[in-house]
Amino acid sequence: MSITEPEARAYEPVIGLEIHVQLKTRTKMFCGCALSFGEEPNTRTCPICLGHPGTLPVANAEAVHFALMIAMAFECDIAPRSIFHRKNYFYPDLPKGYQISQYDMPLARNGRLGDVRIHRVHLEEDAAKLVHAGASGRIHGAQTSVVDFNRGGTPLVEIVTEPDLRSPAAAAEFGRLLQATLRRMGVSDVNMEEGSLRLDANVSIRPAGEATLGTKTELKNMNSFRFLERGLSAEIARQEELVRGGGEVEQETLHYDPQSGGLTALRTKEEAHDYRYFPEPDLVPIAPTEAMLERARAALPELPAARAERFERELELPGDTARLLSFRSELGDFFEEAIEAGDGDARSVANWVTNELPARIGGADPADTGVEPAALARLVAMVEAKEVSRSAAQEVLDVLVADGGDPRAVVDAKGLSRADTGELAEIVERAIASNQDAVDKVRAGKAQAIGAIVGAVMRETKGRADGGEVQRMIRERIGS
Ligand code: ADP
Ligand code: ZN
Ligand code: MG
Repeated sequence: MSITEPEARAYEPVIGLEIHVQLKTRTKMFCGCALSFGEEPNTRTCPICLGHPGTLPVANAEAVHFALMIAMAFECDIAPRSIFHRKNYFYPDLPKGYQISQYDMPLARNGRLGDVRIHRVHLEEDAAKLVHAGASGRIHGAQTSVVDFNRGGTPLVEIVTEPDLRSPAAAAEFGRLLQATLRRMGVSDVNMEEGSLRLDANVSIRPAGEATLGTKTELKNMNSFRFLERGLSAEIARQEELVRGGGEVEQETLHYDPQSGGLTALRTKEEAHDYRYFPEPDLVPIAPTEAMLERARAALPELPAARAERFERELELPGDTARLLSFRSELGDFFEEAIEAGDGDARSVANWVTNELPARIGGADPADTGVEPAALARLVAMVEAKEVSRSAAQEVLDVLVADGGDPRAVVDAKGLSRADTGELAEIVERAIASNQDAVDKVRAGKAQAIGAIVGAVMRETKGRADGGEVQRMIRERIGS
């Protein structure tokens, strides 16, 4: 078979993401209604967000501020002047008959996050939420739906990437970086399950080495990064099979069902002209002043990518550890406070903060538990100084997480201080005497038989000894 035959070809996936982020402002995008977090339906509404005739929108300054922060975080070019458009379509979640959005003059363009280019960043308003009433809501047998307008008018920032992603895993990884970045900035809850972070994925394939893009399909509203990755893999496989079979990919919008793994077509893709975009006559352009830009710049914290880089460079942490500490910024904050307290080597402290701590507190913020950063640093220093064994220190951490306190006091109260060499030597002696079987095996070359003797010592010391040291002492003693 020659390499030019279609079956032999390798295909490369090309992926671009469109991301909607609900901003965590006090009020909605164009009216004074408070944002809703699961309140009674239709209690956060007013004539403006209900689309009553004659009402006038006013752009939310805090939303503009957050959008500018986002544009700056992605190193975008911010437009000196951007305007809103009306995007016309009929759907019951949209009482005005149009969504106010930005079209050909977005707030910002040409940015990047990591190695992915950001095409544009713009502001718009969210639609209301349709709730399908189910069997009880049937009228004359027909399915009915009800509308909760609380969400309608929530400020959204839409972020569109260039088609720079080359695998489902890279898309998910990028999504996580974006989520961590926005969370760190405090501009959104970025919760995919609750819908404050929503992702649409555009995907096509092309023969490897080809420069032109293939026809793309769009996967709507992926609600976790795991499903994003799976959905993309399924769609790439579908496109490949289609093309290898001589078919062509059709541009369409698809729904991925994570339960069945199936992909179903929602609609053929609409074009911009279908929306009859026209400039919103009731809103003035956004023309950021120097003061607005300065305020947005000043509000930007150190972002996760930069923080991870700093941890790797200055503290010589391994890349994975550095990324974990910056993606979960509450762990990073805890770690930095622990380091500032002065005790404990940075790498060891980082190790405890990213392994032992999450093993005990799960996804919680360590600041909400008993353990103080300085206490953890002291505990790590005690392990390093061989004042406590690692397993005893793990027991101490259990206590610190639950009740707080000082590690040395916990060690004393529970009698966990490390067995001293004299005491340990006696215990080793006894363990050897009562495990002659194992001793013979070790001497005969069955190295792993030493486990029985080590185990006996560890039991007797209740974990107050260091496993490595115990092994060393036993070997020395029985001359193996
Ligand atoms: P549309 O006009 O269909 O909205 P856009 O050009 O605005 O398409 O791009 C929307 C998203 O799709 C962007 O994230 C972009 O990176 C991505 N995209 C565009 N073309 C392709 C393609 N051929 N394959 C994969 N993704 C693409
Ligand atoms: Zn309102
Ligand atoms: Mg588009």
